[in-house]
Amino acid sequence: MSPVTKEEPLVSPELAAKYEAVIGLEVHVQLKTRTKAFCGCSTRFGDAPNSNTCPVCLGLPGALPVFNRKALELATRAGLALNCTIQERSVFARKNYFYPDLPKGYQISQYELPLATGGWLDAALGGATKRIGITRLHMEEDAAKNLHEGFPDSDRWSYIDYNRGGTPLAEIVSEPDIRTPAEAYSYLNTLKQVLQYTDVSDCNMEEGSLRCDANVSVRLRGAAKFGTKVEAKNLNSFRYVEDALEYEIARQIGVIEAGGTVVQETRLWNVAAGRTEPMRSKEFAHDYRYFPDPDLLPVVASSAFVADVKSQMPELPAARVKRFIADFELAPYDAGVLTGTRELADYFEAVIRAGAPAKMAASWISVELLRRLNDAGKEITDCPVAPADLAELLAIVQRGEITAASGKKVFSTMFDTGRKPAEIVSAEGLGQISDTSAIESIARAVIAKSPDNVAKYKSGNEGVFKFFVGQVMKETKGQANPQSVNEILKRVLSNS
Ligand SMILES: [Zn+2]
Repeated sequence: MSPVTKEEPLVSPELAAKYEAVIGLEVHVQLKTRTKAFCGCSTRFGDAPNSNTCPVCLGLPGALPVFNRKALELATRAGLALNCTIQERSVFARKNYFYPDLPKGYQISQYELPLATGGWLDAALGGATKRIGITRLHMEEDAAKNLHEGFPDSDRWSYIDYNRGGTPLAEIVSEPDIRTPAEAYSYLNTLKQVLQYTDVSDCNMEEGSLRCDANVSVRLRGAAKFGTKVEAKNLNSFRYVEDALEYEIARQIGVIEAGGTVVQETRLWNVAAGRTEPMRSKEFAHDYRYFPDPDLLPVVASSAFVADVKSQMPELPAARVKRFIADFELAPYDAGVLTGTRELADYFEAVIRAGAPAKMAASWISVELLRRLNDAGKEITDCPVAPADLAELLAIVQRGEITAASGKKVFSTMFDTGRKPAEIVSAEGLGQISDTSAIESIARAVIAKSPDNVAKYKSGNEGVFKFFVGQVMKETKGQANPQSVNEILKRVLSNS
């Protein structure tokens, strides 16, 4: 067997179609606790390096860990949200390896007896969903952070920030049920949405709260046996996961088609080069010598505890989509958009509770509001327009006091200033012109200016009517009641 060293070829679509990829994902997610997994140190992000440490998380001799109950509660909630069985008894084990970011010389994790097993997640894919199995969810602590850059002597020294060491994580391992990079992307997005809805984690990838490794192999389509798998790491965004899988699938097919053998190894995604590259595998030959941690008792999740966690479970995104479709008669796509985050869905429901019609609220939120938020780089939680104020604006538009076009202008001002809609309507004189005599005199002036178009209209060219409507709306700055404009124009044109 000779390793393939040449530049890997990308494969043609015909060749790629002969093969099928088998993908499993391992996601590490930071549990949203105030303190670390086994000590009382803060988990706050961005604090001065090494300010949140103590003898326990620094691994000093004689220090003993005490497990954080909140971490268990959040991990249990995640397990339940992922349809797992919560094991009444799970055990912390020591995963032994030496690295400077691990002061104890081992990481506390769960190995043979994890907290949760045998679940699933329905990943949204186009209009359909695909069910991906969840093998297990286990709890562990994070390592510290090595800093190789940013210091005057970084060419000679590395620094370590132990603040992160001991932060509670859940590792969620999927079954190898994923077949395409797009499915992997969708699974990750759905998983993130569930973890955020349930308040298990903030899933902030920039701060390292959510990280993903991918296992991928290829086999001839229809083959029963799995190919040799490669682990891809350093996937700092869902887009990188998708890109790395695309690349790795093509690379493995290329290796096999060239008569080579795929080597089981860990590869890193090189973002700049757009390819995966092998890690020096000897350095990472794993023998973790797991054994149960003698300093920690088995974790007991009693049926009463699990029932309690279950009773506090918020409505999950899939259920909310269904309810929005059933209760508010929304299209599935719109229901999906409006339930994108729990906060957005809450905002939509608050607007409806304040009296707005559901479909109108759905349309204004998913078009006007989301566009303005996006342009301003704001989250719904920072929305300057209160739900009750949006409901009031929609009521003004619905009563015909201003046109929809004016309503959008008012909304824009509300977004910029936080002022109330009625106040803006009167201050800017946007009240709709329903005074028929005023509209009629404008209509007559418009008609008098375009004898050619009047002639066309009279000879049966109906399309020209729109021209007249447009002119009247222009003259009234969009404030004329459209129905009155139509009626008046028809009458005046037929008499002219
Ligand atoms: Zn500590």
